[in-house]
Amino acid sequence: MIAANEWRSRSRRRLRRLHSGVTPTDRRMMLRAIQLASHAAASGEVPVAAVVYRGETVLGEAANDREATSDPTGHAEVVALRRAAAAAGGWRLVDCSMAVTLEPCPMCAGALVNARVARLIYGARDPKAGAVDTLFDLCRDRRLNHRVEVFGGVMGPACGRLLTEFFAARRAQRAASRR
Ligand SMILES: [Zn+2]
Repeated sequence: MIAANEWRSRSRRRLRRLHSGVTPTDRRMMLRAIQLASHAAASGEVPVAAVVYRGETVLGEAANDREATSDPTGHAEVVALRRAAAAAGGWRLVDCSMAVTLEPCPMCAGALVNARVARLIYGARDPKAGAVDTLFDLCRDRRLNHRVEVFGGVMGPACGRLLTEFFAARRAQRAASRR
């Protein structure tokens, strides 16, 4: 049996390991994504946003735009990857990182693998569609031809709050319109 304090210091070490490798630039990019996501919420889009960067340079960024474009693939990650590839002049984003406020779904995790993105930093976990840690592990599946280094839970509470507040407001709005 492990003493409580030993267990605590073990989980602290595990947490440090989990987040070691997350740089100040990653955190800055996540903040940028959070800001983009909150703008998206104001225009009625589910508040998720992604930033693709190489070193300190932002190559592409986007918020979820499915409502505005009526495009089922209009997830923040896919739109940001398209913009980044256009800016980079090629689809291979080998030395790039992505910061995104929500754990990517199967489509977006697949897009990250296809774009050969090096690193993924995500905020909140997605219990309904998360394809990086929660339901699937597409970014590190050895059967695929590319693997993405993953850092999850970065500013997770702030990212998750955007979503819970958005859906709570939408439910309240719908309830009010029924009355
Ligand atoms: Zn997605």
